[in-house]
Amino acid sequence: MKSGSLVAGLPKAELHLHLEGSVEPATLAELSRRHNTPLPTENNRYNTEGSGGLLSEKDVQRLYSFTDFMGFMMAFKAVTERLRTPEDYELVTLRLMEKLSRRSVLHAEVYVSVGVVHWRGQQFEPIFEGLERGRQRGERDFGVSLLWIFDAVRHFGVEAAEKVFDLAAILRDRNVVGIGIGGIESKGPAEQFKDLYKKAADRGLRLTAHAGETTGPESVWAALNIGAERIGHGLSIPHDPELLEVLAQKQVPVEVCVSSNLRTGVCKTLHEHPVKVMFENGIMVTLNTDDPEMFQTTLNHEYEIVQQEFGFSEEHLRELARNSFEASFLPPEKKLEFLQRIDSLAL
Ligand SMILES: [Zn+2]
Repeated sequence: MKSGSLVAGLPKAELHLHLEGSVEPATLAELSRRHNTPLPTENNRYNTEGSGGLLSEKDVQRLYSFTDFMGFMMAFKAVTERLRTPEDYELVTLRLMEKLSRRSVLHAEVYVSVGVVHWRGQQFEPIFEGLERGRQRGERDFGVSLLWIFDAVRHFGVEAAEKVFDLAAILRDRNVVGIGIGGIESKGPAEQFKDLYKKAADRGLRLTAHAGETTGPESVWAALNIGAERIGHGLSIPHDPELLEVLAQKQVPVEVCVSSNLRTGVCKTLHEHPVKVMFENGIMVTLNTDDPEMFQTTLNHEYEIVQQEFGFSEEHLRELARNSFEASFLPPEKKLEFLQRIDSLAL
C-alpha cells in the first residue's frame, strides 16, 4: 500500500484541536459580514482595540500568516471576536466535523475557549447549546464522534478559570469530558491551578494542560504535579532526561503539534523538532494540528511530515493512530471499537 493512501484512510483521533483555530478564512469572512460592527466596549474588556469589524477572505489569509507566538495570539483573538452567537458556534462546529470526516478522523476532543467568552462579558450557556447542535448534526451527517474540553485562559487568573471549570462540571453529562489551561504559560504557572484541578477531577472531569510549549521542562513538571493526564505540546520535555523517563514510564500522552510549533516560532526548524526523540524514548506520542486553519495544516499532513521528514515507518504511523485512541478520554469499549478498525485495516 502506498504511504499516502495509508495516511488518508487510517482511522485517527485528534486530541489537541481548538475550535477557534479550525475556522477557515472563507467562514471567518462570512462571520465578519454577519457581525460587521465593532464589539461593544463596555462589556468587552478582552477586545481593547475595539476591532471586530469586516474582514475579507484575503484579510483573514493575511491575519493567519503570522510568524511568531504573539502574532498567533492576535489572530486567535481576532477569530474569537467574530464568534459571537450560538449559531456562529454551531456553524464552525459543523464545518470542523465535515473536514475531520474527510481525513478519517473518527473522534476528536475539541478545546473551546470558554474563558474568552466570559472575558468579553457573555454568558457561555446559550453558546453551548449552539455547540451541541453542531456536534449532533456533525455526528449524524458525518459520523464523527466529538467530546468537548473547556479551556481556561491561564493569564486571566484563577478565579476566571474556576468559573470555566464549574461550568464544565455542570455540563459533564452533555459531552464535556475535561478541562484545560491555555494562553501564556509564563503569566499563569500551573501551580496556581492545583486546587481547581483537584476539584475538577473529584467532579469526574479529565485533566489536560498546555505545558512546555513556550517555557522549559519545569512547566511540564508543574502540569504533572497538578494532575494533568495529558500534556499539550511538551516541546521542552527532551531538555530534561528525568522528565522524559518519567513520562515514558508512566505513559503520559503528549499531544505533539509539529506544524503549530514551527508556525508560532517556538521551534525554529523542523529538523530541531523533538517528535522523533520523544517517540524513540517511549513517550506515548499523539499527533495533532492544534489550530489547523491558522497553521494551514491537516491531521493527515502531520502524519505525512513525520513519515517524510523523520522517517516514521508505516508501522509507526499505525502506532501513532493507535496512541490517539488509547490516549483519548473515551470509555474503554469505545476505544476498543476504534482500535479494531485500525487493526482490520492492517490485515
Ligand atoms: Zn493548543
